[in-house]
Amino acid sequence: MFLRKKAIVLGKESIGEIDLLVELLTEDGKLWGIAKGGQKSKKRFLNAFEDLNYIEVHLRKNTTALPIIEKVDILFIPESLRYDLKKYFFSSYLTELLSKVSFQDLPADYFWFVVKLVRFFDQYEFLKVLKPFVEIKLLSFLGWTPELKRCVRCGYLPKRVFYFSYVDGGITCYKCRKEEDEFLEKNVVDILRKLSKMPLDRNSLNELEKYFNVELKMFDRTKRLVENFLKLHCDIELSSAKHLFEELNHG
Ligand SMILES: [Zn+2]
Repeated sequence: MFLRKKAIVLGKESIGEIDLLVELLTEDGKLWGIAKGGQKSKKRFLNAFEDLNYIEVHLRKNTTALPIIEKVDILFIPESLRYDLKKYFFSSYLTELLSKVSFQDLPADYFWFVVKLVRFFDQYEFLKVLKPFVEIKLLSFLGWTPELKRCVRCGYLPKRVFYFSYVDGGITCYKCRKEEDEFLEKNVVDILRKLSKMPLDRNSLNELEKYFNVELKMFDRTKRLVENFLKLHCDIELSSAKHLFEELNHG
């Protein structure tokens, strides 16, 4: 059976001497395909399988093994990610993150968000707000959005004083707070609420970026909270790319 699929490249590995195993994010979630002769045949696949390339693969499916990638059309190459250092590090982080949290049968919106993100990210200057923004969006597509409105223990709507429970997945009120909960500034709650509703839109992101450039502490708080939440709920530990990215942000 033959089929075509639009895909974002998440990685590749050599198998044997000549073939490539390619990791792809598609409308149906993550899948792996084999590019026969992919290590050698420069003509046939060019540089199609670079991270975050947006491509269309022509797949031949057989019932038992992984699908074979017969042909590739390149739809979009995010060129600037290869030479802009900040973008490069963030794209390494993003690729690693997507590879770890994506699975089969994700909603199609998840894929289209990633396609839009790659284009956006390539087109405009790097914004540090993108990190918590992307993380909170991915969390929501995966069904793990932190509860930001009601106390996760009693359902009360706190107005001024907030705590946050990583384990219970959201804010708690003063009365229900436990020792391990973290105090949360109202500003951070507002930012988190804003981020989780925000579309991938340049003006909204720029506005928040400007705020973060002045209120660095708020940025650090927001970033750390989303990052810890993601780590805990997706059970992931991201490697080198993240640390390099952190250094850039503080440099
Ligand atoms: Zn409560």
